[in-house]
Amino acid sequence: MTGVMNTELSVDGMYLIPPEHHVPDTDRATAAQLLGCDDRTIDALVNGGLTVRDDRFDGRDLFNLGLHSGTGATVPEQAFAFSLRWMRGSANALLSPRTLAFTLTTECACADTVLAVPRPDRYGGTVTPPPAHDVVRASAVTATIRTEGRAVPLRSPALRGLVEEFAGLGVRWVKLPDALREDESLVTSRRVATCESASRYLARRCRDAGYAATTRIGWIVGMLDLVHAWVEVTDDDGETKIVDPVFSLFAARVPGANPLLTDPSVALRTNRLVPTALSVGGRVARHGCDLPVTVRINPVKE
Ligand SMILES: [Zn+2]
Repeated sequence: MTGVMNTELSVDGMYLIPPEHHVPDTDRATAAQLLGCDDRTIDALVNGGLTVRDDRFDGRDLFNLGLHSGTGATVPEQAFAFSLRWMRGSANALLSPRTLAFTLTTECACADTVLAVPRPDRYGGTVTPPPAHDVVRASAVTATIRTEGRAVPLRSPALRGLVEEFAGLGVRWVKLPDALREDESLVTSRRVATCESASRYLARRCRDAGYAATTRIGWIVGMLDLVHAWVEVTDDDGETKIVDPVFSLFAARVPGANPLLTDPSVALRTNRLVPTALSVGGRVARHGCDLPVTVRINPVKE
């Protein structure tokens, strides 16, 4: 392989967590480790405008800076490259049915915890036992689920145009404070998005073009605790199809990614997608504290 990565870490053009949301949770040594750089580079980043308070940084700024640095040497880039290896899989690997053991649990003892139920039955799969509700009042949800993928043409030229337009905006997927995660105005004003805001933006563009469209939230098999969001849109042939703006962005950065993931004329629903019945704005877990909620989705031997 030729072509040595020579990009230097820089704050230029980077979105920084706004001061009112800044959380100085990461010390300098950890920052250098996350970014794969030395102390002098940290100084240069601070001089360049990286937000620092009492010599501490916001871990989300460090994550976003590292992920989009292009150095290949940062922890976020390496973690992403590892967790997205599956994007190089064959069409069969992306689409063939899978049986999975699903568990969603809270780590707290909050009363009145409400959890979302996985609903792959919405997408041609099954849930055992069959869910009676979309959400349940419980501290754990367990189920055996079967997912299956589908790749179909996105027929509407208008919809294909909107998918291409989004891909061409130069949007960066970033970690944002909860208060900004669903803020679709940041997509155009700052060219940053989460999967929630990107999906909200694209669904609205589809509706503005006259197509029935909604956002959907759920999980991705194999990406730890990743609550994901995507778009469901009704195509010219009357079929509701999946468009996933953020996964197309990710796939565009994975060398050798299956072209189905980035082709604007293909509506791809991978077998890794586990929907809920909720849209962006809904929560896969509602409870009274900040303790994490863990989702485990593991293959079941058949
Ligand atoms: Zn709680």
